[in-house]
Amino acid sequence: MLCQQALATSPLRYTALADSNPAADCPLENTLRVQASGVRFSSSFITTCPLAAAFALFEQHALQPAAQEVFGQPVMQLEHVGSFACRTIAGSQRRSQHASANALDITGFRLRDGRRISVLRDWPGEGDAARFLRLVHNGACDSFNVTLGPQYNAAHRDHLHVDMGLFRMCR
Ligand SMILES: [Zn+2]
Repeated sequence: MLCQQALATSPLRYTALADSNPAADCPLENTLRVQASGVRFSSSFITTCPLAAAFALFEQHALQPAAQEVFGQPVMQLEHVGSFACRTIAGSQRRSQHASANALDITGFRLRDGRRISVLRDWPGEGDAARFLRLVHNGACDSFNVTLGPQYNAAHRDHLHVDMGLFRMCR
């Protein structure tokens, strides 16, 4: 409940979800569906409250300041490829944070002028888009418990994985 009170002071638009069991071995408890925030999302997504609260901090203190610093304009849309997936970590027996909707995979951003920033295309470069993505990655590390990007491994070459699991990692 404390977490939802924190969300009430954020720009997040969301609905609380009833506990459910959408896939074998992956019950969802205390989750929300986030529709929008200061940014639009490429699609709404299911999330735990802690992940939603971390996102709100990230948006305000890292994402938008980075966009203003590099491009002089805000991010209008965030593109992602999902939060909930009932699975283990690739190459591991451990349960992914995605299995409890406690992780989000961010693939890109769209600026107010329509320009699109892609993790896959722009991370390897040296221009302003690459600088923006590094600022976003560093800022994500301050808000989320785990932030994994293209420099972590090939599985993350096209997205930033952020989660609120028990470990802290910034790679
Ligand atoms: Zn992920």
